[in-house]
Amino acid sequence: MERASVVYLDAERPVEERVEDLLARMTVPEKVGQMLQLDARQDLGDVVSARLAGSILHASPPRMIEAIELARSTRLGIPLLTADDCIHGHSFWPGATIFPTQLGMACTWDPELLQRGARAAAVEIAATGVHWTLSPVLCITRDLRWGRVNETFGEDPFLIGELGAAMIRGYQGEGLSDPTAVLACAKHFAGYSETQGGRDASEADLSRRKLRSWFFPPFERAVEAGVQTFMLGYQSMDGVPITANRWLLNDVLKDEWGFTGTLVTDWDNVGRMVWEQQVCADLAEAAAMAIRAGNDLVMTTPTFFEGAQEAVTRGLVEEKELDDAVRRILRLKFQLGLFEDPRAPSAGRQAAVIGCLDHADLNLETARRSLVLLRNDGLLPLEGGLTRNGQGVAEGRGAPRTIAVIGANADDPQAMLGDWAGASGQVDWMPEGHPRETIETVLDGFCAVAPADWSVVHARGCEIEVLVPDPAGPLLPDGQPRPPVFSPAPVDEELLGEATTAAAAADYAVVVVGDTVALSGESRSTATLDLQGGQIALLDAVAATGTPMIVVLVQSKPSTLPDSALNAAALIEAFNPGMRGGRAVAELVLGLIEPSGRLPLSFARHVGQQPVYYNQVRGQHGDRYADLTQEPLFAFGEGLSYTTVTYSDLTVAEPDVSPAGVVTATVRLTNTGTRPSRETVQAYVSDLTTSVTWAEQELKGFTQVDLAAGETIDVEVEIPASRCSLVTSDGRRVVEPGEFELRVGPSSRSAHQQVARFRIRAVGQ
Ligand code: BGC
Repeated sequence: MERASVVYLDAERPVEERVEDLLARMTVPEKVGQMLQLDARQDLGDVVSARLAGSILHASPPRMIEAIELARSTRLGIPLLTADDCIHGHSFWPGATIFPTQLGMACTWDPELLQRGARAAAVEIAATGVHWTLSPVLCITRDLRWGRVNETFGEDPFLIGELGAAMIRGYQGEGLSDPTAVLACAKHFAGYSETQGGRDASEADLSRRKLRSWFFPPFERAVEAGVQTFMLGYQSMDGVPITANRWLLNDVLKDEWGFTGTLVTDWDNVGRMVWEQQVCADLAEAAAMAIRAGNDLVMTTPTFFEGAQEAVTRGLVEEKELDDAVRRILRLKFQLGLFEDPRAPSAGRQAAVIGCLDHADLNLETARRSLVLLRNDGLLPLEGGLTRNGQGVAEGRGAPRTIAVIGANADDPQAMLGDWAGASGQVDWMPEGHPRETIETVLDGFCAVAPADWSVVHARGCEIEVLVPDPAGPLLPDGQPRPPVFSPAPVDEELLGEATTAAAAADYAVVVVGDTVALSGESRSTATLDLQGGQIALLDAVAATGTPMIVVLVQSKPSTLPDSALNAAALIEAFNPGMRGGRAVAELVLGLIEPSGRLPLSFARHVGQQPVYYNQVRGQHGDRYADLTQEPLFAFGEGLSYTTVTYSDLTVAEPDVSPAGVVTATVRLTNTGTRPSRETVQAYVSDLTTSVTWAEQELKGFTQVDLAAGETIDVEVEIPASRCSLVTSDGRRVVEPGEFELRVGPSSRSAHQQVARFRIRAVGQ
C-alpha cells in the first residue's frame, strides 16, 4: 500500500476519518480480533497472527518486541495496544522502581506525591513498550479478609477518589501525544469489593443505591480526571455478571457520566459467563451478551474469536454492533499515534530511566511518608532522635547500642514489595523477583543508617508458612496452574531460641512481623486476620526478654494483634513499603525522619468485627458485641507523630450557606512538643437529620500542614456544600438542606475532633 494514498495511514487526516477508513476495510475476523486482549505468554503466532488480537498483556521483555513485529505484518498492520499491571511501579520489569503498594501509598494522604510517583512509573513503563497500565484500583475496602485490600486506597470513597485522580493524572501526563504518557485504567467497575465473607469475586449483594452511595464516587471522579479506560469487576449483582450489565456500562458510565473511553473486561469474564457463572450456554451467546452490553476489549478469552464470529453468523449480534467497540479501540491507537510510532521498547530510554536515582529518591520519600506510627510509649525515636551525617547515616551521641532485628519479614525482599511485583506469581519470566540489590529490607535499612559504632544483629526467629500442593489438584478449571496453598509454619524452637538470645543481649529489639504474598492477592482471601506461623510465639518470647520491643508490621493488610505486640514499646505499620521501605523504617526508628502517615482504613481487634470501616450507616442497636466492643483497634485517619499537636478553636466563617456555596472554617493547630510534625487535618461532615439513613460521618476534605516545634497556625478548611450530599432511596444524589456538623481533627475518632455547626439553605432561600 502507498502510505500517503491510504487514509488511515495518513497522519495528517483527522482521527475520526482514519478510524472510519480503517473500519471500512476490516473483515469480521479482523474486527473481532481487535476486540481481543490476549495473554502474551501464550503462543504469539496464535495470539497476534491467527486471532489478530488488538491488544496483549503480560509480555516479557523479549516477547514484547516479537509481538509488535508480528502485528506489523498482519494484513492491515494495525499496531498492538500493550498493557500490564504496573500497579505500584513497573511490576514485572526487573529492577524497575517498585513503590509501596497502593494501600501503603494511601497512608501518605498526599495526592501530589502520588501523582509524581505515577509520573515516574509512567516514564519507566513507556520506555518498555507498554502503553497501558491496569491501574489504579478504585475498589473500596469493606472486609479485611479480602485478599485484594493491599491493592486499594483504603475504605473511604473521597480519599480514594482524590488519590486515584492524582495517579491518573500522573500516568497520563500531558496527554496521549506525550511519548511518556501511559493510559490509566479505573478498576474494577464497580462493587467488586463488596464481598461475602471476604471471598474473592463472590456475588455482590448491592443495591443500586448502595453502589451510588459508596462505590461509584471514586469512579466518577476518575472520569472527571480524564481516565482513558475502565476495567470491569468479576462479580455479578442481582444475578447479572458485570460483563452483561447494560445499566452499569451504558446508562451510568457512558450516558450519565459521559465516559467516551475504552472498556476492558477482567480476566476471561466472557468465558466465565459460560464455565463459571453458567449464564450462557456457549461462547457465541456470551460474546453476543458482552458486545451488546457495551464492552470493548475482551481480556484473555481466546475463544471469543470464534464465539463472536459464530454469534454474527447465528444472528445473535449484528456486525455493525461490533463497530462501536472497534471504533473506540482504534481511536485510542490513533490518538496514541501508534500507526506512526508503535512506541516500541527503547533500550536507550530504559538505561536512562528504569530504577534511576531520581525515581529511587522519590520512592524513598514515598516510603517514608507511607509509614504509620500506631503506638509509642516514648521509646521512639531511639535515644531521643539521632542526627544524620553527610552520608545520610545516623550519628550516635551516647554509648554505642545494639539493635536486634528479628522476624521472618525482617530480611525478606519479597515482603517489602508485596503483591504485583517480580516474583509475586502473576508472570513467569522473573521467578527470582526483582534483583536483590535493588531492595532494602528492614535489616538492610538498619545496617545502612545506624551509627557506625552501633551493632545490628539479626535472627529470623520463625517461619510464617509452608507452601503445600493445593488439594484440589494441579490445574484451575480454566487450565491455569493452581498455585501451592498456604499452611502455617509450626513454631521452630531453634529459631525462636536464637531470636530470644539475640533480643536479650540487645538494647532494642525490632521485631518485623506480617504476612506473605501467599496470604494476599486474588483468590487469596484469609479466613482470619491473625499473624501466622511462629510469629505470635516469637512476639511473646521477645516481649518476655524485657528488652524494649519495637514491632514493625510489614504486611499487605491490617492484622489483628496479640497483647505482646499491642503492649510493645512502639508499633509501626509498613504496608509492603516498596524497594526503599527498609531504609525508611530504620530512619523512622532512629528519628532521622518524622512519622507522618495516617491510616486509610480501620484496623479490627478481632476478625469477627468485620466490617469495621468507619463510615457505617446509623441506626443499629448498641455499639458493642456482647463479648467485644465494636470500636476498631486503630481508626481511619489515625497515626502518631513524635510530637503532640492540639486542635482548638474551630470556627465556621459563615455558618449559613447556599447549596452552591462553600463552608469555610479555620482551626488552630499548636505543636506542643519538641519535634516538627506534618499534620493531616481531616474534615468530616455529619448530616444531622436525613430523609434516609446515612453514615454518621464522612470525610469531605483534608489538607497537610507542617508545624515546627512550638508553632501555632490557623488552618483553613473549605468544603463545597455540594459535597455534603446523600443518596435518596430512589438513587438520586442530593444535598438536603438543614443542620450539619463539621468535625475537624487528626482522625475519624470523635473524641479527637473539634465540632462546629453549619446550615445549608434550601435552593432559592
Ligand atoms: C485482575 C485484574 C488484572 C488482570 C490482568 C485480573 O485477574 O483482577 O486486576 O488487571 O487480572 O492481570
